[in-house]
Amino acid sequence: MTVCGKLKIGFVGLVVVLLLAACGGTSPEKKTSQKSESSGSCGTVGESSLVTIATGGISGVYYPVGTAIANMVNRNRDRYGFQVVVESTGGSVFNINAVAAGDIQFGIAQADRQYQAVRGIAEWQGRGARKNLRAVFSLHPETLTLIAGDDTGIRDIRDLKGHRVNIGNHGSGQRQNSLDALNAVGLKPSDLDIVEVKAIEALELLKEGAIDAFFYTVGHPSPAIRKATEGPRKVRIVPIGDVGHMFVLYPFYVPSRIDMANYPGAANEEEWVDSFGGKATLVSSSDVPDAVVYAVTREVFENFEDFKAQQSAFSELTKKGMLQGQSAPIHPGAMRYYEETGLLRSE
Ligand code: GLU
Repeated sequence: MTVCGKLKIGFVGLVVVLLLAACGGTSPEKKTSQKSESSGSCGTVGESSLVTIATGGISGVYYPVGTAIANMVNRNRDRYGFQVVVESTGGSVFNINAVAAGDIQFGIAQADRQYQAVRGIAEWQGRGARKNLRAVFSLHPETLTLIAGDDTGIRDIRDLKGHRVNIGNHGSGQRQNSLDALNAVGLKPSDLDIVEVKAIEALELLKEGAIDAFFYTVGHPSPAIRKATEGPRKVRIVPIGDVGHMFVLYPFYVPSRIDMANYPGAANEEEWVDSFGGKATLVSSSDVPDAVVYAVTREVFENFEDFKAQQSAFSELTKKGMLQGQSAPIHPGAMRYYEETGLLRSE
């Protein structure tokens, strides 16, 4: 059976894309596709199967990363009989839930969220572990980034007390990271005036002075953070330090620091700002055919240098590193590629 034969998933999505285009849809929650006509190998023109990668906000790093993956695969869409489109979403938790529900085939998600979803903790507590979630590969490192107006006097995470702070939308990866960071320094959400909007909205609110600070778990350099640091309101990236015990309590977090050379417009004088984070990962589900996951894995790894060059957050990316940091079982389609190429062997 061909990949297309197994993949009865795309046509409705294609109609949605075309309808949105026809209506001139301008929603930021948009799908992009390389081309919408058929590849030919699936048969009828206009019935090309679509495979969707759920990403994050369009100002984040997930969105261009998803686009880079789609570009790799779509160069050979004739061969595979499907094409990849990218969807902007609310972030990691949304993506995991959509993948596990079978609404989409791939999602980018923080490694900590992958860990929690397969164990049924954090957002999944009482809602059930996402047992069908499968890991494909890891991507760039992400850091919980706290950005505050310089005029607020916030110089440390503990200074957030009493301030109006965006911890992130429901569905985002950063929401739980923000709560964990606050908890680690003895702050309760009720000690702050909490806002729960997407990073792209938080950026505007910070600029207007409607919030004092916001948290964003993102790869660096981040175009959104750069934009925040270049606006008329002077902002600074605030250290999230002294949270060492978190690395014992939560094995999915690692210490991390932000290179301020990426943000010359920020008020910071120091070269590096301490925080913590983890890796972004690509996830899929056990219901997605092996051939589809194999094709995506193969295209990214076979064109690794090209892939790496498409995104500045990939500066440290290595093939071996892309196999690390997973909690869900590796999807058999990805595993086939790793076994064929010997990537799993330790040298
Ligand atoms: N880490 C964020 C989240 O999971 C998304 C960051 C991005 O879009 O680059 O919600």
